[in-house]
Amino acid sequence: MTVKKIAFFCIPAHGHTNPMLPVAAELVRRGDRVRFYSFNEFKEKIISTGAEFVSCDSFLPSITKDEEQRLKSVSTTEMTIQDIKITLAMDEFLDGEFKSFMPDVVYSDSVCFWGKLNAWKHNVALVVSTSTFAFNQLSSKYMKHSKGELWDMIAGLPKISKELKALEPHGYKVKNALSLVQNDNTTDTVVYTSKRFQPYSESFSDHYAFVGPSVFSKTAPQKSKARPLVYISLGTVINERPDFYNKCAEALGGLDVDVIISRGKYIDEKLLSGFPPNIKTYPYVDQLDVLSKADAFITHCGMNSVSESLYMATPMVLYPQTGEQVAVAKRVEEQNAGIMLGDDSAQGIKKAVLGLLNNKGYAQAAAEMSEDFRSCPGTEGAAEFIENAPHKSNGVDVLAELNKENGRFQLIYWLLVAALIVILGVFAGWNFIWIVGITAGVLSYPISQKVQKLRYPSIVKRLKSK
Ligand code: UDP
Repeated sequence: MTVKKIAFFCIPAHGHTNPMLPVAAELVRRGDRVRFYSFNEFKEKIISTGAEFVSCDSFLPSITKDEEQRLKSVSTTEMTIQDIKITLAMDEFLDGEFKSFMPDVVYSDSVCFWGKLNAWKHNVALVVSTSTFAFNQLSSKYMKHSKGELWDMIAGLPKISKELKALEPHGYKVKNALSLVQNDNTTDTVVYTSKRFQPYSESFSDHYAFVGPSVFSKTAPQKSKARPLVYISLGTVINERPDFYNKCAEALGGLDVDVIISRGKYIDEKLLSGFPPNIKTYPYVDQLDVLSKADAFITHCGMNSVSESLYMATPMVLYPQTGEQVAVAKRVEEQNAGIMLGDDSAQGIKKAVLGLLNNKGYAQAAAEMSEDFRSCPGTEGAAEFIENAPHKSNGVDVLAELNKENGRFQLIYWLLVAALIVILGVFAGWNFIWIVGITAGVLSYPISQKVQKLRYPSIVKRLKSK
């Protein structure tokens, strides 16, 4: 195997950077040269993988307090706009880098525009790193966006399309923002989960490698101890929730359990004072290590946290905060490895934690998922997939077939509606046919969704058996 030069690109976010690190370490171990374009916050972690670190901090635009607030609340519009601004700021620098480093492959996070766009601009093989589930028209149904998130996306569209236009003169061709972030069946993509856990995994082509959680620790879970351990974390982005940590303390303070709370780096410690002795809080913990011993994890359902939890056979109390996290939470619930936290009062938290600890079925389901994850190709598989990019697919495309069938269904549906209108018009008069038209229009989407859901298993069976 010839040594490859691989350029890694990621946005400044732990959840997106973390899973790329073991992959970088594995490529370096295999003798490849990895150059990682990232931010000072991650410098130490990146250097310890053996990769070269390139600081991109100077390209981060200065942002207003308002913009900062929107980023903190994970506004899709604001993130997209900042992504475009960084891409523009890095344009000249990356032109130079691509000329001097001449990567064989670009390994870019799925929402890191400057990585993906430069791979296309400089005609370098691209592999996308997806730190969430892979989302297409089927799996995205698992997401449930709040009204605020939906409004943010709709209201932001004109702003985003204006910003996208600024990319064109620099040689970046983009149809729309969706085409930049959505997973498609022709782009080589690594997903850090198993086929079993990925919703509608059969609808993704051979351009996808489901490699399982990307973690450094391969140690087995070690659960034996005097009393149960409950771990609580809301991740690294939306974690300034003293109200929630206080309610957890109230709920779990009197129980015969130990509790570890990762409270985040920015919270004022004074807001979490007077906790009972069985509850300890830290700004940041070695999460995999804690999870290897934990018996329950109250989580915001970030993809990494959930994957790490299942990898360490820890069942979860699910407390999703964004549409994407709702999708992850739903999937855990479907595997019976967690309980949704509907009521986030102290009483509700206590009930959910006791429910999880007192029913061994949840731990058993999490242990099964752990085995499933550990049998995946892992970081070695991801490294091999990246080294061998670009890939060819066997041509099986369940999604394309489903859409083709849907096209045929729509044709028949509307022919029947037209026939009905004519019959009604001729025999009962033309006054009310508009009611039929409108009803047919309103029903067409839910009916076609239902039909697609019913047809999906047989299309998968037919195409996969070829
Ligand atoms: N993490 C950690 N220690 C902590 C809190 C978080 O190591 O105290 C890591 C965690 O292991 C995971 C990442 O930070 O890899 C959080 O990613 P996730 O996708 O779960 O959530 P996000 O922070 O992106 O919302």
